[in-house]
Amino acid sequence: MNYSVNKEGYYGSFGGAYIPEMLYPNIEEIKNNYQKIISSQKFKNEYNALLANYAGRPTPLYFAKRLSEKYKTNIYLKREDLLHTGAHKINNTLGQILIAKHLGKKRIIAETGAGQHGVATATVCALMGLQCIVYMGEVDIERQAPNVARMKMLGAKVVSTTSGSKTLKDATNEAIRDWINNATDTYYIIGSVVGPHPYPDLVAKLQSVISKEIKLQLRTKPNYVIACVGGGSNAAGAFYHFMNDKNVKLIAVEAAGKGIKSGHSAATMVLGKPGIIHGSKTMLMQNSDGQITEPYSISAGLDYPGVGPIHAHLFDTDRAKFVSITDAEALKAAYQLAKLEGIIPALESAHALAYLGKLKAKKNETVVVNLSGRGDKDLSTYIKHLPI
Ligand SMILES: *Cc1c(COP(=O)(O)O)cnc(C)c1O
Repeated sequence: MNYSVNKEGYYGSFGGAYIPEMLYPNIEEIKNNYQKIISSQKFKNEYNALLANYAGRPTPLYFAKRLSEKYKTNIYLKREDLLHTGAHKINNTLGQILIAKHLGKKRIIAETGAGQHGVATATVCALMGLQCIVYMGEVDIERQAPNVARMKMLGAKVVSTTSGSKTLKDATNEAIRDWINNATDTYYIIGSVVGPHPYPDLVAKLQSVISKEIKLQLRTKPNYVIACVGGGSNAAGAFYHFMNDKNVKLIAVEAAGKGIKSGHSAATMVLGKPGIIHGSKTMLMQNSDGQITEPYSISAGLDYPGVGPIHAHLFDTDRAKFVSITDAEALKAAYQLAKLEGIIPALESAHALAYLGKLKAKKNETVVVNLSGRGDKDLSTYIKHLPI
């Protein structure tokens, strides 16, 4: 089985580039150049130096002793939470800003829902001295005030979108409109393994540093790699170098929200059907008319109605197991990690941790959990639900 993208941009029957004709030149420019750029020595030198000296790579692979005792197995945490800006997203934005520079672009646009990708983009734009415009739904701007403040402090312009449900979907539409109108000088930084080809492949390759390091750090082969899935970039990065090794079981954890059947969840694989979102064919939560269902999760980063095409393919071919975890289970796992290991995880990552309670790994087996981000941003949610 092949888990890489083919020439047309497909993973099995998923992926592709379903875009308006007016976007062709923009996408073609990236498609025709990204492989050459990221495999050039110049790019590798710049990217690796920034990952090491600016972002803080390699991140530790930490043996979680007390958590391992609790679940009677061997648990390692890949500490992406220790990166600059607090999550794995910086691996992607650093790589894409270098591509933008190689293509001679002067202006960067991005869309953001919870604001995490907006902050990671504003950060690298400040670093490179490039203009940054972040599209964000009006409702999200109200909900995510601290991240809006961060983006502004970093010099980005945050544009409020007031159409539709005033959330991520509408911000994406506005960003695409901007890109069509400013094709020659503008680069669009997408935040996960989503969007038209070649973005899913590009983002997966930039995040693949996660599994490259796990392989070097662990020495033995893991039995399981567990990661949460919103769009799927941290999971794609954590799985990447293990995909062709069937002895390594890959577990992707989606957000069940208030429960799969509650009507308030983001469990795309359980509830979704094939459809087209953000320019790619993938699994998608939709009603019988094909209208996208509004997703829900307590963690803003998992609150996405689709999933990257690479994951739709891993699901379709049974290469990865897709499971879902509720808000309540994720909260419990976050409090547990704080008490047992002195680490406060992001709510997204807490979904991956919560699956440890259901995994039933054996005593001599090895489990790697990708700790995609830190919990500072979720403190107000944690305080509200504090189990004391
Ligand atoms: C954004 C985010 C996610 C979800 O995005 P993916 O593309 O699925 O990785 C997960 N964890 C954290 C900490 C995030 O900020």
